Amino acid sequence: MVPRTFLWKRFLLQRGMMAAAFLLAGSILLVPRVAAQAPPLRAAAPKAMQAPAKPKLVVLLVVDQMRGDYVDKFLHQWTGGLKRLVEEGAWFRDAAYPYAATETCVGHATISTGAFPATHGMVANNWWDRGLGKSVTCTSDSKAKNSAYGGASFKDGDSESDEKEGGNSGVRLTMPSFADELKFQGGARTRVVTFSLKARAAITLAGHQADGVAWLDDTTGAWVTSNAFETLPFLDDYVKKNPVRKDYGKTWNLLLDKKKYLYAEETVGSVPPDGWNHSFPHPLRGKAAGADPDSSFYKQWKTSPFADTYLTQLAELAVDQLSLGKAGGMDFLGIAYSPLDYAGHAFGPRSWEVQDILARLDEDLGGLFTHLDKEIGPGNYVVALTADHGVVPIPEDMQKTGADAGLLHLPELRERIEKALEAFKYPKPAIASISGSDIYFAPGVFDKLQNDHAAMQAVLEAALAQPGVAAVYRADELRDRPATPQSSTQSPTLRAFAYSYFPGRSGDLFILPKPYWLLDSTPAGKQRSYGTGHGVPYNYDQHVPVLLMGFGIQPGQYFQSITPADIAPTFAALCGITLASRDGHILAQALKKPAEAHAQSQPARPKSAPASAPNTNP
Ligand SMILES: [Zn+2]
Repeated sequence: MVPRTFLWKRFLLQRGMMAAAFLLAGSILLVPRVAAQAPPLRAAAPKAMQAPAKPKLVVLLVVDQMRGDYVDKFLHQWTGGLKRLVEEGAWFRDAAYPYAATETCVGHATISTGAFPATHGMVANNWWDRGLGKSVTCTSDSKAKNSAYGGASFKDGDSESDEKEGGNSGVRLTMPSFADELKFQGGARTRVVTFSLKARAAITLAGHQADGVAWLDDTTGAWVTSNAFETLPFLDDYVKKNPVRKDYGKTWNLLLDKKKYLYAEETVGSVPPDGWNHSFPHPLRGKAAGADPDSSFYKQWKTSPFADTYLTQLAELAVDQLSLGKAGGMDFLGIAYSPLDYAGHAFGPRSWEVQDILARLDEDLGGLFTHLDKEIGPGNYVVALTADHGVVPIPEDMQKTGADAGLLHLPELRERIEKALEAFKYPKPAIASISGSDIYFAPGVFDKLQNDHAAMQAVLEAALAQPGVAAVYRADELRDRPATPQSSTQSPTLRAFAYSYFPGRSGDLFILPKPYWLLDSTPAGKQRSYGTGHGVPYNYDQHVPVLLMGFGIQPGQYFQSITPADIAPTFAALCGITLASRDGHILAQALKKPAEAHAQSQPARPKSAPASAPNTNP
């Protein structure tokens, strides 16, 4: 047998000789056989290569809290844009986030950057800022200043955190988004516009710069932006003429025939917004049904399909006013549809409200795509639709199946840990904050615990004794994990927490609830203000749809397991730009071959084409 090293050396030698031969052939043409094969040096210039075709507009749609299985459950009832995405597009049926922190800011940042939170740094909607000693939202920026379109008054600051100063921006996103890179690398001028009801969705979809980013102020219904972004002059006029309060007095009724709704008319354990009952119809008349909108009206509005319709109108307005897709560059339009999330939190995934919102969103998206076809041309734009996370059934509803489901009370867990540390002479309180699954200790406490085996054991045992806790992970178990070779053999949940871990921002300990147990922060003695939630590494929170349609996309159903971080690299490939992160991958199986993509600026194929045509790829 020939020794391996010998073979390797011979290979190198051959390669060296071959390289030398080619060098000679190329320069002085001394090797006749090679020279004969080489093209003549002064041949007629070949026809100039046509520049690869690029999409004129990239459309990124995120439906907040849309579980992957909603497509399977409701597709047969859709007739508009959602149906068209499935029938004319590429449907990835096994898409899921691989990380633990399945929250809105995290999901949108992952979709927009093509990276996981361990890379992009958006680890939660809010986290405990150890330096400031307070909770901050993922888009808070003390240097930014917010303003409202149309000169409307609004409540500055964010109602979901202690943040009362400054405004919002993408400053905490540690890397450029796809839209940022498109602007930077695209060549011709790229316009970036995003809309959502939530700052953490609109901003993360855009990134650091944009021509327009707008979100809804929770309590006043004003459309807000910040000086981190350019402003859209036409929006001032539009929101003045079409204020949200115009929908005051409307009623949200069922769209479909009553018999078409799955599940019960009322979900056990649902917590509707103030002023609404547990079942349809839902009047948008605030809490008191007075003459004028109150803050409850805005809560109702953002939980209703009227808000999706409004967002779609904003999108069409931006396309028209900015001539998106018609200015010679590659433009970007991002819409984060938030109402499904509000409805899902209140009524749960097994509700008529969820089904109805999707049926109506299907209609809105049908209109949007028709508008884009007319303005930009079918096949000239590319669309991706996905979600930022899923949702768990309402625990009380799940318990009916006999399953072990419940509420993991975080304030109670906090008490247990404080109590366990009493015997070890730690400063009190030892815990600075519990935010979602992350426990943050007071300064110095975790460092001390890491060298204090008995106290650490007492903390872990106390946490594990809390009903609903499946496991507790320590920050030192997660650091740098995704990069280590062992990562493929470690437990999937530990790996999920590692994908979410960002030093400095993430907690010191991490709580993994048991499946179907909901992390609940409601203070003792208070009523829970929502039905259900999300934020953990189980499939009901991680599995989302990924649908691609239009320019360069090969229609079909795809069953490979992918993540929503694959959308941005796929867009980047279509647009001919490069992203920094390698967390996501190009969805090459759903891309047309270059020749097909070239020929694509033709009218799109008829809608009647079969949905899942035989293309079930390898
Ligand atoms: Zn969300």
